[in-house]
Amino acid sequence: MFIECPSGLSGEIRRFKVSDYDLFGDKSLARKKGPQVSATICKRLWENTVSPGPYEMDDDGNPQWFKDVMEHDRFFILMQARIMARGPKYTQRFKCEFDSCGRFTMWEIDLNELEIKKAADDVIDAFQSGNQFEVILPRCQETVVFELPTFEVQKRVDAEVQKNGKRLSSVYAGRIKRIGEQTIRSQIWRFVRDLDAEDWEALDEAFDDVDFGVNTAIEYVCGDDDCALEQTQELILGRDFFIGGR
Ligand SMILES: [Zn+2]
Repeated sequence: MFIECPSGLSGEIRRFKVSDYDLFGDKSLARKKGPQVSATICKRLWENTVSPGPYEMDDDGNPQWFKDVMEHDRFFILMQARIMARGPKYTQRFKCEFDSCGRFTMWEIDLNELEIKKAADDVIDAFQSGNQFEVILPRCQETVVFELPTFEVQKRVDAEVQKNGKRLSSVYAGRIKRIGEQTIRSQIWRFVRDLDAEDWEALDEAFDDVDFGVNTAIEYVCGDDDCALEQTQELILGRDFFIGGR
């Protein structure tokens, strides 16, 4: 099937095979840093390139899945493959975020109706000229240089998470290349941890401005009649999404 990714990369992908599904439980892949499973599956599904989009192709004309392909495109490819295999309807189990409720609600999502943001031309230009984006934080007045999440950047995020624990500061620090002239990783993480709330928001917005792809924020309503809280939670592309019960 022909698909066009949010970055402009386009080509043909094949349908899932059982051997692709097996990779979700592959322990040797899970041990390595970076999004190994999704990159491996994308590489297997990709049959041929029609347009390279912003990427440099390898000698065989394929995207370099373990180098510069961005998460936004990988997510899109996996979602399209899932729609091909099992249709666009997916029921996810959400847990109400209201503490005294906490009820689980099964909520049906139509994957074809999720909003897809295409990469803006200036974002692609900046990506191609070194993948560097700048923001000056309003309170501390520091210049933060960050990157779009390529495979290599995600490897760095994993390294931060491994070192500093699975928290927001690790994930944000992983995408930052330098603060002013500071490039020492432990210093970058400390800088993120110490950010004032207003600076934090500015950094988050700067990420949001350049990020693109499938909008995975799902609005749902808690199924408890007394609560019925409207809330937004993330779509999870876990094993269930691909091979779990409908
Ligand atoms: Zn609730």
